[in-house]
Amino acid sequence: MKLILLGAPGAGKGTQAEFISEKLSIPTISTGNIIREAMREGTQMGTLAKSFVDKGNLVPDEVVIGIIKERLSQDDCANGFILDGFPRTIPQAEALDNMGIIIDKVLSIEVADKDIVHRMSGRRVCPACGASYHIEYKKPSSEGICNLCGAQLIIRNDDKPETVLERLKVYHDQTEPLKDYYHKQGKLLVVQGQEELKDTTRLTFSALELDL
Ligand code: AMP
Repeated sequence: MKLILLGAPGAGKGTQAEFISEKLSIPTISTGNIIREAMREGTQMGTLAKSFVDKGNLVPDEVVIGIIKERLSQDDCANGFILDGFPRTIPQAEALDNMGIIIDKVLSIEVADKDIVHRMSGRRVCPACGASYHIEYKKPSSEGICNLCGAQLIIRNDDKPETVLERLKVYHDQTEPLKDYYHKQGKLLVVQGQEELKDTTRLTFSALELDL
């Protein structure tokens, strides 16, 4: 299965990707996580990306396309993968098509803007391994501590309210047109994000025709 997850920032793409990844034993590729890691390590790409990420803007297409080309060429992608946060623009989707990669399904998780702003205020992430939590909807077992690696959870710089509004605008302007792009290819599935995580998961698995 080669799957793309679409949706506004905070819609729950990463969380659903985790569940699908476990179910199908295929990797999740999150350009956001790759970029944040490069920012932490202070690589040349990370330093370049930081000026865009911190303002809520998109990193230039050629940079993320380079990241994805490199990542998809690795062995663990041979049996499929889940793309979380890529493509985010039409040129990125075209680049994927031009690489000869045939995407099977594109799932869009829809959440109203007002709910996104509320959700983002409760999101916490692990700075060490990239795992994502929520203080109401997806609590870590021990408050403020990553279940997977034990690091102290933090609020992402770009989850601050003013940056979230910019990211939502960018989503509507640049990423939402991808729904039409993939609808025309007959690949688009739509799920309404629910208040309860387990309900969104049920709808997601049903849309993808997977058993829970
Ligand atoms: P995410 O974790 O997916 O919300 O991504 C965090 C930030 O990384 C975004 O707001 C962008 O600045 C950058 N980013 C991640 N993926 C992409 C992409 N496909 N194209 C451009 N910028 C991206």
